[in-house]
This record gives sequence, structure tokens and C-alpha cells, in this order.
Amino acid sequence: MALRFSNTLTHQTEEFVSGDNTVRMYTCGPTVYSYAHIGNFRSFTFYDILRRWLRLRGFKLDHVMNITDVDDKIIRNAVAEKKSLVDYTAIYEKAFLEDCAALRLERPERLVRATEHIPEMAAAIRKLADHSYTYRSDGSIYYSIAKFPEYGKLSHSDFSGMRSGARVDVDEYEKADARDFVLWKAPKDGEPFWDTDLGPGRPGWHIECSVMAIQYLGDTLDIHAGGIDLVFPHHENEIAQSEALTGKPFARFWMHAEFLLVEGQKMSKSLGNFFTLRDILAQGYQPETVRYLLASVPYRKALNFTFDGLKSAATSIERLRNYKLRLETARFLEQPAGAMLERTALAQKEFDESLDDDLNTAQALAAVFEYVRETNTLMDAGEFPAAAAQPALALLDRFDSLFDVLHPAAKGGALSDQEIEARIATRNQAKKSKDFAGADRIRQELLEQGVILEDTRDGVRWKRK
Ligand SMILES: [Zn+2]
Repeated sequence: MALRFSNTLTHQTEEFVSGDNTVRMYTCGPTVYSYAHIGNFRSFTFYDILRRWLRLRGFKLDHVMNITDVDDKIIRNAVAEKKSLVDYTAIYEKAFLEDCAALRLERPERLVRATEHIPEMAAAIRKLADHSYTYRSDGSIYYSIAKFPEYGKLSHSDFSGMRSGARVDVDEYEKADARDFVLWKAPKDGEPFWDTDLGPGRPGWHIECSVMAIQYLGDTLDIHAGGIDLVFPHHENEIAQSEALTGKPFARFWMHAEFLLVEGQKMSKSLGNFFTLRDILAQGYQPETVRYLLASVPYRKALNFTFDGLKSAATSIERLRNYKLRLETARFLEQPAGAMLERTALAQKEFDESLDDDLNTAQALAAVFEYVRETNTLMDAGEFPAAAAQPALALLDRFDSLFDVLHPAAKGGALSDQEIEARIATRNQAKKSKDFAGADRIRQELLEQGVILEDTRDGVRWKRK
């Protein structure tokens, strides 16, 4: 079966292809007004899994993600703290990138800041005005949704009975408040603004994404993704703006990650179940444990984030790491491997097909764990053939090029001398049992953690980079 994704726009699961093998993808990034919470990171982890699977399936990526560094909340907080927008957002942008690195989220090919594209946004608003999609009121410019009859096609809502001319000024609002939305906001007293030929003001949140997506990726994206809470109004508004600007469909595929609950409840500060990634790491959990839990539930299912779930994620990772170590170091008997090689190929097929099926990560994990269970049993019985070890490790490699949890995070930035010596001992063991690929892998892992090995006549020497 071919690679297929569920498309919010059509309500269908559709085969994903790309004419020139490059995926032009836009994902909505963070609004850097505070530390990102674990619900935000569900979406960002989904983008990462999507990226990695597309690449494993042979696509090239051109992925753009925005950093929203001007909006209602940012202005409110920056003004309250008497900071400039740049000084205020720099703190949270840095924190966001650190959190992403901890979760091993790949950097998109381009990260773009809204405030660095103000002239382009003003030009787009000017063009919308020239084509009569806008009107002015009190110095602000609004998009008239009555001028775009397809408004509502993404959220599958019918807004045709709406009163023309009713407006909404805030960046975020509910469906019941569907109104003409603001493109350019006149500054209130004391608020920062940009001077453009539209008059003093700043862009609304929605126009940012349309303008930056089209600027870098062209009129029609292959994929536009975000959290489910962005379908309305944000993505509906992006479509209205973009398609009015270009006359072309804005994105072929719209993909949305479902909500995250905490211990079965909606996350909220008043319930005391509101967690940033930092809150969770401060409790002693490893970032890769959080990554595993966030990635393990298919993106279109609501994810119930629990501390029990984190503990079992840690156990699952430990189990896989032990299994990998066993493959790398145990001595297996020379015996016919044909059946085992077939079993390994089947596990990989199940893994791949699960992910091709709209990124069904839960099913992909089930395929791997069933394989691990069966082969561990064979190893216990001395019936695992030596020639099957390398293919089994290759399966784990494929698993890890997506899930990326098998390498332990360096504690405090670096491995201890003891940990390094232990890895070298494991590698010596592997070499003794002629498992040269296993030995190379350990060398490579240590190198990735900044440790260089040197094989000498007197044994192995090591140094830090
Ligand atoms: Zn957006």
C-alpha cells in the first residue's frame, strides 16, 4: 500500500505523492510569549515524525516553520514587563529551540520570524485591498469573509448566514465568533507598531503564515500541518487570504494533530495540570521518555498524557536499549537463519506499512515489540542464529531513525569517564566475538557524544573532543 494521509480539507485518507519528490511543507510554529507546554510539543513531535517518515520514504523536504514574535499576548506581556518585543521574545524563542533540541526534534529547513517579514505582509494586504477583499475601520484593515464564498471549507462549517461587516480584532476566537478578521491592526496607546504605507500598525496573526508560506514555498503547498485547535479560525483564515492572493489552492494536504489531555482532563492552569516540558524534566524524566510518549499515540487520536504513561514509556525504551545491547554483545550460535531472516523482514514490512497508514505509530511500535518478544525468547533458548543479529540491528536502526530514543541523552552535557569505559568494554567484547559492525556502532555513538576512540597496540585510548 502507498503512503497515505488523512486530509482535513477533504475528510478523506488520500495517497500522498509529490511531482518532483520534494515536499513543500509549512507547519505553524510557536508564539513565543511563554514557555511552550506539553500540548504544544505534541504538535511539534508530530511534525518531526512526519518529516522523518517522509524522508525515510525517499522524499526531500523543504519545510518552513514560523516563529510568531508579535501578537496580542506578546504585546500585552512585553508592555507589562517594559521590554521591547525583540528582548521579550528572544528569551522564549531560545527556550523553545532548547526544548526542541532536548526532544530531538529536527530543525525545519527554514525557521522564519514574523517581524522580519512586515513589508511583505503589508504588500500582501495592499494587494488584497486592491482586489476589494478588505475594508478599513478605525485605522485597522479587515478581511471581508463575505468576499470569499468558500470560507468554511476547511472546518466544514457553513458561515453563509453571517452578518456582513461584523468584525473581530483578537487573534484567537471561537467558531461562534466567526467574523471579518483583522489583517492590520492600528496601535493602541503605548503599543509597538510599524510604519508602512498602510499606516501605523502591525499584522494580525493569520496573515503572517499566508505570506511567509507563499514567499518560501510557492502558491500551493504540498502539506500544511498544525494542531487541531488551529483549524478554525487560523487555518480557515489562512486559506481565505492565500487563495484570494493567488487564485490557487493554498495546500493540497491539511494535517492536524489532535488534542492532548493530562490525566484525562483538559490541560489548564486552574486545574493544576498545566506542564511545560521543563516542569516534566525537572521531575527527573528523560527528554527521550517524553518524546516516546508523545510519538507513541497516532497523531489523529487524542493523547492522554499521564505520569504512569511516562513511566511505562521509560520501561519500553529501557527494554529496547537492553535488546540492542544484547544483539551487539551476546554470542549467538551458527545455525540456519533463513526463517529468522524472513521474520525480520516481516517485522520491517509491518513497521513500514503501519507508518504509511497515516503515521500509525502505535501499530508500528506493536510490530517492533512483538518481534523483540519473540526473538528474546529464542535467544533465551539458544535458538537465535548469529547471522540474524545484523538484520535485527538494522530493524532497530530503522525504528530509531524515526523514534530516536535509543541513544541515551548525555547527562549534564557529557558522559562520565565510567560510562565511557563501560561502553569501551562492551565494544571490546563485540570485537572479540567478531561483531565488527556492533563495535563500529559503539564507536560512532561515542563520537556523537563527543568521545573519540583510538585503537592502539596497547588497547583503546579515548579522549573528549
Ligand atoms: Zn499558522
